[in-house]
Amino acid sequence: CAKEKGKDQFAFYTKEMEEKTLYYIHMVNRIRKAIEKNEFSLVYQPFIDLETKEILGVEALIRWNHPTDGYISPVDFIPIAESNGMITQITKWVIKNAIEQKVEWKNKDVHLKMSVNLSGNDLVREEILEYIKSIIEDKKLKCKDFQIEITETAMMSNLDKAVDTLTKLRELGVQIALDDFGTGYSSLNYIKNLPIDVLKMDRDFINTIINENEEEALVSYVIKLAQALNLKVIAEGIETKEQEAFLLKNKCNMGQGYLYSKPIDPKNMEKIYKKYLSNID
Ligand code: C2E
Ligand code: MG
Ligand code: MG
Ligand code: MG
Repeated sequence: CAKEKGKDQFAFYTKEMEEKTLYYIHMVNRIRKAIEKNEFSLVYQPFIDLETKEILGVEALIRWNHPTDGYISPVDFIPIAESNGMITQITKWVIKNAIEQKVEWKNKDVHLKMSVNLSGNDLVREEILEYIKSIIEDKKLKCKDFQIEITETAMMSNLDKAVDTLTKLRELGVQIALDDFGTGYSSLNYIKNLPIDVLKMDRDFINTIINENEEEALVSYVIKLAQALNLKVIAEGIETKEQEAFLLKNKCNMGQGYLYSKPIDPKNMEKIYKKYLSNID
């Protein structure tokens, strides 16, 4: 009987693996087509000074509307693009488009720092570093108006090379943010040696703020840690006034989340920015 069961299980896993493989191949083909046919777009989510509510900049987030299957989340396709190397092309597309948007905004007197997500694979390639450098110089932008976000996990996966590339980017003046902080394995010791300027506290953290004292303590600890290391902090995924109040009380510098704005298209982003400017006049 045990043998029978074992056999069934084997058959079951094989089928599941086969389905996964087929899905993977299907996705790889669709991503390749999406790159060729330019099916991607970017939306922008503002991050703000929590105290003054000044809009400091935006995070560019990729969107993929497939002609027949509709919306496909970056959470689903980015890892696949990473696993077969297509991510480099996608990252270049994102950088190019985000910078072109930045130029357009600059010409319209919309002054926002531009933050772009990079994957771990991008950091092991000199190519991306050169690409960022040349395109920023070409458009006559300032590197300090540009930020890249990299997750702890991505950085850890090839630490030496990541540190090397990030150091070079930072020497140019590009700001480096550690994304989704709190979800990885970072220890104090390790953080203090990284070439970073900003900690982005993961929204899972922020989510649990209210009524869970332990998490509250954790968030305030992270903010204090960041201050001690001279890093700025952005709290991600702020959805409620209570979360905002707690973060303000604990002297968190910056915030991002649906409470302020969802990721939106460039035109709407301009509107929000102009509205903000008219309020402070
Ligand atoms: P991330 O970089 O941590 O981006 C933040 C994610 O949280 C975004 O999801 C954003 O829409 C969402 N978010 C922001 N505020 C709130 C909130 O208040 N509540 C909730 N529930 N969610 C909020 P999105 O756009 O689906 O992106 C998911 C992840 O995909 C990103 O996480 C990033 O890791 C990756 N990603 C997105 N765009 C790119 C890209 O251009 N390149 C690369 N390499 N990765 C990207
Ligand atoms: Mg990010
Ligand atoms: Mg994040
Ligand atoms: Mg994330």
